[in-house]
Amino acid sequence: VAKEKVSITVFGASGDLAVKKLFPALFRLRVEGLIPSDASIFGYARSKLPREKFESKLTAKIPSGASNEAVASFVAQCSYVSGAYDKIEDFTNLRLALEETERGSASQLRIYYLSLPESTFETVCRGIRNVLLPAAGESGVRIVLEKPFGKDTASYLQLSRQLSPLFPETNYYRIDHYLAKEMIQTIVPLRFSNPMLESTWNSSNICSVEISFKEKIGTEGRGGYFDGYGIIRDVVQNHLLQVLALIAMEPPATVDASAIRCSKATVLREVAPARFEECLVGQYGRSLDGKEQGYLEDPTVPAGSKMATYARFVLHVNTPRWKGVPFIITAGKALDEQKVEVRMKYRGGTHATSEKRAALYPGSAGEELVIRVQPDEAVLLNLNTKLPGLSQQPDDRSLVRTAISLDYKVKYPDVRLPDAYEQLLLDVFRGDQQRFVGDDELETSWNIVSPLLHAIERADAAPPMIYPFGSSGPPSSLHFPLSSGQSKL
Ligand code: NAP
Repeated sequence: VAKEKVSITVFGASGDLAVKKLFPALFRLRVEGLIPSDASIFGYARSKLPREKFESKLTAKIPSGASNEAVASFVAQCSYVSGAYDKIEDFTNLRLALEETERGSASQLRIYYLSLPESTFETVCRGIRNVLLPAAGESGVRIVLEKPFGKDTASYLQLSRQLSPLFPETNYYRIDHYLAKEMIQTIVPLRFSNPMLESTWNSSNICSVEISFKEKIGTEGRGGYFDGYGIIRDVVQNHLLQVLALIAMEPPATVDASAIRCSKATVLREVAPARFEECLVGQYGRSLDGKEQGYLEDPTVPAGSKMATYARFVLHVNTPRWKGVPFIITAGKALDEQKVEVRMKYRGGTHATSEKRAALYPGSAGEELVIRVQPDEAVLLNLNTKLPGLSQQPDDRSLVRTAISLDYKVKYPDVRLPDAYEQLLLDVFRGDQQRFVGDDELETSWNIVSPLLHAIERADAAPPMIYPFGSSGPPSSLHFPLSSGQSKL
């Protein structure tokens, strides 16, 4: 019986992302039987790759334990077409190759993955529209786009104006691979399937929310690329604002993609633009022991660059739920720890009960809920408990801080947490847009950071504070913000 034939074409197949992430993820999905076993996989790029070279790109990052038979069967399903991104004749060659594999099928689903710089998106999407539509037209097409999406609100809107006339929003799958990370995916069920948590998820109970991304590594020779973006574009505008949206949003009408995306976009519209006065930016210098180079010593970084490798700032979410609660965002490279987490600090009771707590247990602190995204995925609840053991005095009220810990490695030792790209590619095959970023979310998230970026990048702006490679950031970051959103440095 003729049925739907599915294909995926990776544009930019000669590049780093295709080799490192996309081909291994497609291999894994196929081995696990999660995508149709007869789905065709095409690589497309300008580079003229002989078959052996293409095959070595396909298999370079497939784990060594994979069976030879599985690898051979995967490779046999993959083809490579070399061509330009702006030539009708070259796209026609790709179309003929696709049609060849689709012969006899009742319908076709064509997935196009643009693993390319955003400067090519409009041309390639136009080529898809004009040359590469299947018989069903745009309903048989899904287009995956890789970040970055613009550099500020104006450039994002320009990109959006180029792409939106070509295909409706439902055809575009914009990647933010953070949305496929296990612990980010757990935020929605954690909040909305546990009323005990959700009933305290507000300003009456929570005094601050910290969202942190800390890396130990510096730019590692990719400083030239990084210098065009900086830490706020690289990490905050996309990943951390997506995390903020999931933490701060109101309950969605349902847990399907459009309802969650709508709730995220709604709350992002209520986030006041980040203010320069409430921001601390830094750039890493040489490590104190002299062994690690500073940012400006990376030969690919332009001399005298003022680009931020560290930023810490406060965001205010102006919804009744969060009025007055600072969301403290920290992102930095070349720091003393590798950590991505959300830390929600509880007030330790309402006004009356926290006074009572302080009277009964002076020095006790409010609870903390921590969602640790990486490394070592976990949900932790930090509580006060009695110091275990024999009490020495009649009214001994000694407390210890104890974490109730759901450590995924301990609790689920046999569960393999998939790479984010496996989940995202599977979603594209299934047509599920929940873990992809909507056009309106992108516009609002750029609105939040663009004024800050422009203030930092003004020619007369103060240079970033230098912090040693491997430290906790600029020295004043320890005291910033002073408390609950106070902005003095
Ligand atoms: P890449 O290696 O720089 O580029 C991928 C391919 O695109 C290249 O092999 C090249 O293929 C083609 N290309 C490069 N520059 C081009 C240009 N100016 N005009 C036309 N074609 C060009 O990029 P990548 O690291 O694979 O990443 C692909 C996309 O994913 C980029 O948008 C990147 O920002 C994003 N991304 C990458 C990573 C990662 O880990 N690598 C992570 C997150 C997001 P041909 O010359 O053979 O055509």
